[in-house]
Amino acid sequence: MTGALWALGLPALWAGYAWGSHLLTLGSVWRGRPTVRAAALTFDDGPDPEYTPRVLDILGAQGVKGTFFLIGKRAAAAPALARRIAEEGHDLGNHTWSHRSLWLCGPRETERQVSRGHAAVADAAGRAPRFFRPPWGMTNLALFPALRRLGTPGVFWSLQPEGRRPIPAPAQVEWTVERARPGAILDLHDADGVPGAGARLVDALPALIAGLRTRGYALVPLRDLL
Ligand SMILES: [Zn+2]
Repeated sequence: MTGALWALGLPALWAGYAWGSHLLTLGSVWRGRPTVRAAALTFDDGPDPEYTPRVLDILGAQGVKGTFFLIGKRAAAAPALARRIAEEGHDLGNHTWSHRSLWLCGPRETERQVSRGHAAVADAAGRAPRFFRPPWGMTNLALFPALRRLGTPGVFWSLQPEGRRPIPAPAQVEWTVERARPGAILDLHDADGVPGAGARLVDALPALIAGLRTRGYALVPLRDLL
């Protein structure tokens, strides 16, 4: 009997804790002001020793400031790169300590993922992250109090050129430029989650920047978009 109650009760509790928490993301940031013709390029999952420097070179050459949501563990392993991101004037965000799905983290592990990630990015870059983005956009009920304590709002996105499946670079550019709206937040990946994501981003980025600029968009870091 107890076993049956557990079997019924745990999935329901988990559904409330994980899926139910997504109602709270309605209060999070999904895009910037729709009245200003600007968009933010945001980069998840780095710093990556191979692709992040190439992304920074492209942004530098184009005079674009972006926002980098770093995985704490990767920032700790590549502090010079994290520092370069900060020194070149880009915004920093926390993307958890080790990129675990928050759907699979209890309250204690959630707190650890958020606070350890935050501290690792701050230590490596020499500047505290201002924003937070959960891996795959997955949240739970323990996340929001942890973010309030750190003063880092959760930031999602309005456009994701490539999600969980590889999309060729030209298709990413065309799809994104066509759908961009004022206040758009683009979710890009400068490291591999999906294999080859970093390489496809480096291919797509110059045309993406040019395409958005042709349509009149200023490309700004999140601190200026929000
Ligand atoms: Zn991610």
